Amino acid sequence: MSSLGILFIIWILFNAMKQGKNIGCCGRLYRPDIDFQHFCLNCKIWYHQGCLGELASAPTATGDFKKIIALPIIRGRDPQQPDFGMNWRISGNGRRVLKARELEKKDNIPEDWKEKLGEVFVADMLSKEWSYFACPTCNTVV
Ligand SMILES: [Zn+2]
Ligand SMILES: [Zn+2]
Repeated sequence: MSSLGILFIIWILFNAMKQGKNIGCCGRLYRPDIDFQHFCLNCKIWYHQGCLGELASAPTATGDFKKIIALPIIRGRDPQQPDFGMNWRISGNGRRVLKARELEKKDNIPEDWKEKLGEVFVADMLSKEWSYFACPTCNTVV
């Protein structure tokens, strides 16, 4: 095997280890095909929905852009809707939700926010009522 090939394998193992340290709630590795998780920005931990406790009340947000900003950060497959969110669910909605929050800081409600976040993504996010929970570690709503 070439030295590049070996480096590549080391890189994969290193990332698997990093993910292993990062698994958070119950120690199971993330399986995008069966897990549905919420991220706590405060704790930097992904929680399975089943590992979260009580439902928290959803933040009140008026208008589509503000609703996106208030979304929980989620990833994985919603068992109730197995074919939902095919284009974002593996890596989750976090990158785009955080981008929306950044956009808001700069420009309250930018005119082209839908294009910036992706029309399909926005439509997916607004088509559903999302559940919110209290983080079992720090109590932040996630
Ligand atoms: Zn868990
Ligand atoms: Zn937390």
